[in-house]
Amino acid sequence: MSSNISLYIHIPFCLKKCNYCAFYSIPDCGEDIKQSYTDALIKQINAFNTSKTISSIYFGGGTPPVLGTDRLLAVFEKLKSKFNLDTNCEITVEANPMSVTLKDLKAMRKAGFNRLSMGMQSSDDKELALLGRLYNKEQYLEAVKISIDAGFEKRSTDIIFAIPHQTKESLEKSILTAISSSTPHISIYSLSIEVGTPFYRIKDNLKLPDEDVEEEMYFLICDMMKKYGYKHYEISSFAHEEYESRHNLHYWDCGEYVGFGAAAHSYFGGKRFSNIADVNKYISLVDENFYSPTDFNNQPFISNEEKLEELIMLGLRTSKGIKADKKMILKSKRFIELGFVQINNGYLSLTESGYRISNTIIAELI
Ligand code: SF4
Repeated sequence: MSSNISLYIHIPFCLKKCNYCAFYSIPDCGEDIKQSYTDALIKQINAFNTSKTISSIYFGGGTPPVLGTDRLLAVFEKLKSKFNLDTNCEITVEANPMSVTLKDLKAMRKAGFNRLSMGMQSSDDKELALLGRLYNKEQYLEAVKISIDAGFEKRSTDIIFAIPHQTKESLEKSILTAISSSTPHISIYSLSIEVGTPFYRIKDNLKLPDEDVEEEMYFLICDMMKKYGYKHYEISSFAHEEYESRHNLHYWDCGEYVGFGAAAHSYFGGKRFSNIADVNKYISLVDENFYSPTDFNNQPFISNEEKLEELIMLGLRTSKGIKADKKMILKSKRFIELGFVQINNGYLSLTESGYRISNTIIAELI
């Protein structure tokens, strides 16, 4: 486990709620709330102390640029002045095609952001409209162009598959669009219909690809990514050499992280902690000094058993896997014979077929 820590900053504002979204995010709200939220973030950051080196910072959401570039930079400046950032610190900001301008991205790059994660989701305009996204393929390509012009060499793109009415051909086009825009890191998730989302309310009328088609789509993704030189380094992510997300790998390695902002989670000092998923309540709690460093002290330590379970659960998300001891090999015997689990250089990991049923395998191993 790394001795460095990662920081996560949650910016819960979006231009509009997407039809599938179950994240804690709220459609665009007034400037007053955004300013109060920025002040609360800075206050929470100020209250946290650590002498550990920061290996990655991730501004996620929501759609972080919706906070406003000046506010984002103010939060980032606070982090830079408060903590000891590794010289190679990976600093990611999530964005959507309609949320950024060249001027904003140049300002972020100049301030030290060095990685941009852009949600494309699909390059098919009908699929984008169905998902409730606010842009089309041309606008996505324009956003990629300005992110390159602004100097973001490390870029990631998100894609969703198993969208209603999606075909393997349209998925293939989406993947090719991401690849041909020279994106060195691509994350691909299957659509999940979550309770409380607009999609959930109409779930019986959604024409989702059946299980067989979804499986074919998954293997199409794996084959294409391999063909174009991307390594399947994590259950949902593919990257060219040297472009793996340091932040993601830190999570899967059970590294410590501290989350600032509404709905942000932390794992620090052997304890877990999460902030309230409500912007107004979060602002009030910070105002009352609730999110002070001592709040970690009020949390119970996670047990050794829980730690071991997490080590297995998180480690098996990566292509590296977990150390293979005799007990684990014995427990995995059936999955190894079926080709779902493999052992390489003393590490036990899931194969691409194994990733498809990771929940079943992990449940059995822990
Ligand atoms: S942009 Fe992202 S966070 Fe915002 S509503 Fe859409 S999926 Fe959710």
